[in-house]
Amino acid sequence: MSLGAPVLRFAPSPNGRLHLGHAYSALLNADLAARMGGVCRLRIEDIDPQRSKPALIDAIFADLAWLGLHYPEPVRRQSDHMGDYRAARDDLIDRRLAYPCFCSRGQIRALAEAGKATACDPDGAPLYPGTCRSLDPARVAENLARGEPHTWRLDMTAALRCTGPDQGYVAFDATGAQRIAADPARWGDAVIARRDVPTSYHLAVVHDDAAEGISHVVRGRDLEAASDLHVLLQKLLGLPTPHYRHHPLLLDAGGEKLAKSRGSQSLADLREAGVTPRRIRMQLGFV
Ligand code: GLU
Repeated sequence: MSLGAPVLRFAPSPNGRLHLGHAYSALLNADLAARMGGVCRLRIEDIDPQRSKPALIDAIFADLAWLGLHYPEPVRRQSDHMGDYRAARDDLIDRRLAYPCFCSRGQIRALAEAGKATACDPDGAPLYPGTCRSLDPARVAENLARGEPHTWRLDMTAALRCTGPDQGYVAFDATGAQRIAADPARWGDAVIARRDVPTSYHLAVVHDDAAEGISHVVRGRDLEAASDLHVLLQKLLGLPTPHYRHHPLLLDAGGEKLAKSRGSQSLADLREAGVTPRRIRMQLGFV
């Protein structure tokens, strides 16, 4: 844990317009930072070259400013730091904690359907059965030399051997803090670097939280299970583990989490409909 003033962050991905769920997370982070005498930084998580659009980044700035939220400069953009993520990935590769995986999503699904991978990870994807973990090194070298598309996966067994089995973090809320046991193994051999970029969400977020000196991570419950993996990556990379708080998600009338893809109104829609930032703050409990 870093000494000094708390540093929080709001870290949206620019792959859609912000909705009320984002507003809640952004306002909660800002509110907690103010109460704790700290700061809240903004980070643009734009590692996905297909889905991240410059216009959506501009829209994030505009929506947050409209809500009355202002952030210290510079705002970190993950796409500016691919070299750092590559170095972290290569460190894990050099230590034999990560291996290249040449399986396509379709192949993994087919293996799952054939009954070879019965368990699922916390996101509901079939756990990777480890097909490429024990590939013949000559074949791996050949595939890599040929430029065969591949992800890089964490060797979970080797990683846990390296860190030891005890994983955990401090979770905090309004009532206090408590130690939570983490179970990164439920992610299996998680992808730490995608085919198209030298990182995954997990590796980039862990790297950046440390690079920005984030002391308290406050994000939605949909990422609670991911924190187990993040704690493991922090240990492997020698990074500090922040304190975590996973807030409830805002649900729509049908009980589903808000998402643009499900037709949830964006902040821009609400603004156009004449809703004021004050009303949004009141609705979300921040006035
Ligand atoms: N970029 C992620 C999202 O928009 C949030 C990541 C995080 O807070 O760790 O869902």
